[in-house]
Amino acid sequence: MRQRYKPWADDFLEENSHLIIPDPSKHKNKWRRLFGNDNPIHIEVGTGKGQFLIGMAGQYPNVNFIGVEFVKSIIVTAAEKVILSEQKNILLLNEDAADLLEIFSENELTTIYLNFSDPWPKNRHEKRRLTYQSFLEKYQVILNPSGEVIFKTDNRGLFEYSLVSFSKYGMELNEINLDLHDHDDPTNVMTEYEEKFSAKGQPIYRCRARFLN
Ligand code: SAM
Repeated sequence: MRQRYKPWADDFLEENSHLIIPDPSKHKNKWRRLFGNDNPIHIEVGTGKGQFLIGMAGQYPNVNFIGVEFVKSIIVTAAEKVILSEQKNILLLNEDAADLLEIFSENELTTIYLNFSDPWPKNRHEKRRLTYQSFLEKYQVILNPSGEVIFKTDNRGLFEYSLVSFSKYGMELNEINLDLHDHDDPTNVMTEYEEKFSAKGQPIYRCRARFLN
């Protein structure tokens, strides 16, 4: 995702530390306290500019949403949009998904969304894919036993790889959708990438997977 360098991004992060939470490991096992309620927590890993999170937060006001994005300039754009949306059930983390175990405790989450994750098509980059086994190990710890990973992509290769990765890991696949936009689904909230690729007529793939603990 291309972004202009924003030299004022550090100041912005500091001024908006109520929204883009610094040092998130301090809140491990206490995220509900920060939201000020007991609602379930859903996270989007690789949240980009925040469109999905804002749409979901509006559709599900009784869910707490956290967006994890490791590119600073992108999370700043997401934060600007969250502020404009006035949604109170969203927090953002400028963190790498590799550090999820430092941020969330066992069973703390109900859903993990992976939307249009970077495909990393070269074999030597397999470990960077967010559906690689080492990421699944982390998701399994922080998701509660009935929690789900919900994965959407336009990338057929990454989709096939991820289905194999989920199933090799012993996960239960509850949905495999090879053309999400084939039928109208008013509950589907589109991400930025989803809008872009579906407008070009590309099929969008979705699957829902659960760990069998
Ligand atoms: N989810 C958005 C969407 O569907 O429009 C953005 C998709 S974009 C292709 C993938 C995003 O994931 C990028 O913004 C990238 O910086 C972020 N990302 C990739 N790997 C990540 C990681 N390990 N931790 C946090 N963010 C990551």
